[in-house]
Amino acid sequence: LPDVFVVVVESLRQDIVTPEIMPRFSAFSNDSLTFTHAQTTGNVTHYSWYGLMCGGYPLFFDGIKNLPSEHGSVAFTALRNVGYKIRLFATPDLGYQNLESIVFGADGALLDTKFHPAEPLPAERDRLVVRELTRTLRNEPAGGNVFVLALDSTHYDYAWGTGFRPTFSPFANDASIARNYEVDVKARLALFNRYKNSASWMDGLLGELFDALESSGRMNTSVIVVTGDHGEAFWEHGSGTHGSDLGAEQLDVGFALRIPGKPGARFDSVFSLMDVMPTILAHVGVDTNGMLAGVSVQSRFTAAGALTPRSALTFQGWNSQAFRFALTYDDKRLILELDRANPLDARRMVLKDITNLSSESLVQRDHSDVPGAYHSVIRDLPVVLDNLPFLEL
Ligand SMILES: [Zn+2]
Repeated sequence: LPDVFVVVVESLRQDIVTPEIMPRFSAFSNDSLTFTHAQTTGNVTHYSWYGLMCGGYPLFFDGIKNLPSEHGSVAFTALRNVGYKIRLFATPDLGYQNLESIVFGADGALLDTKFHPAEPLPAERDRLVVRELTRTLRNEPAGGNVFVLALDSTHYDYAWGTGFRPTFSPFANDASIARNYEVDVKARLALFNRYKNSASWMDGLLGELFDALESSGRMNTSVIVVTGDHGEAFWEHGSGTHGSDLGAEQLDVGFALRIPGKPGARFDSVFSLMDVMPTILAHVGVDTNGMLAGVSVQSRFTAAGALTPRSALTFQGWNSQAFRFALTYDDKRLILELDRANPLDARRMVLKDITNLSSESLVQRDHSDVPGAYHSVIRDLPVVLDNLPFLEL
C-alpha cells in the first residue's frame, strides 16, 4: 500500500502560495495536480475537517457532534479496512467541537499513533511535529501508512518560530483585534505582512517535509495532499480572518495533490476538498460511490486529459450549526441561506447574492442585475438543485 500524506495547513489562502512567499510549496505545486479553484467545504476548521476527512456535508456537523457514540470517519475506517495504519501528527488541539472524535473515533479509536507535543507555542509545536514526522519517515520502511499532519502557525495571530527572520515588512508585532483594520489601511497591510511571514515560516517546515519525502523515496510513490483547511480574509469583502463571510479569500485554499503515475498539471476547474478522501480511496481500489458524498478526481478525467465540471459547496454557520453556504460552479458563486434558527427543517432557501469567482457581486443594490445574472441562475436552476443533494426538495 502506498503511503498517504494529508497535510493540513491552517488558514492557508490560495494566493499566498507564490514563489516569493512560499517557494518550496510553489515548486512542489508545479509538479502536482492543482486547480484554479480548490474550494474548502467550510470556512472554519471543524466544518472544513468534517468535509475533508469525513467526506460529509458540514450542514450536518452539529447533529454528528451530538451523537452519543462516534465511530469516526467512514473514509478512515475504509482505509484501515484495506490495511492502513492511521498516524496523526498534530499541532492544534482537535478536541474543539469534538472534532477529534468525529474524525478519528471516540478516544482515537481509528488512530494507530498520535503525536501532539505539549510545547505551549504553536509555531514551536509545528517545528516539533514536522521533526517527529521526518524522523519517522527516516526510520520506518515506506508503505502502509496514512500520515495526517496538521500545522497551525498560519492561524490568526500568525506566528513563526524562534530564530526565523521575517522578511516581509513593515509587519505588525501582534494581531491585536483592538485595531480598526477595516478602515486603517496601514494596520491592515502590516497585519497581512505578518501573515505572509508566518506563511514563509510554514514554507520552511513544508520544505523539511518535502526533503524527507524525497530522501526516503516516498515523493513519487505516495499519494500526497497539501491543503489549507480554509482561507483567510483581510477585509477584502468587509470582514477579516475566517468564519466571517463566504468571499473568495476564505474559500480558495492553497492546494496540491500528487497521485503516483500522474504527471503534474494545472486544471482551470473547481475542485472540492470533499473529493480528497474519494480520490485517495480510488487510488487504492476502493469505490466510495454511495459511501461518501464527494467524487474522486480520477473519475473526472476525460479521455482528452481534461476534467469534467464540478461544483463545490462551502458552509458557514454559528458554532457547530451551519446555515449559510456558497455553491461554486462554472464561473459563478451563489450565496444561499437556510432559516438560521432551524436550518435542517427550513421551508425556504434565500438567494443572498450572485457573484463571480472573485466575489464581485453580479447584483446591483437596486436589485437589477449585471447582464442576466438572475436569468442565468434561473436557467441553471436544475443544475443548482442537482448540486444540493442534502436538501429534501
Ligand atoms: Zn482552520
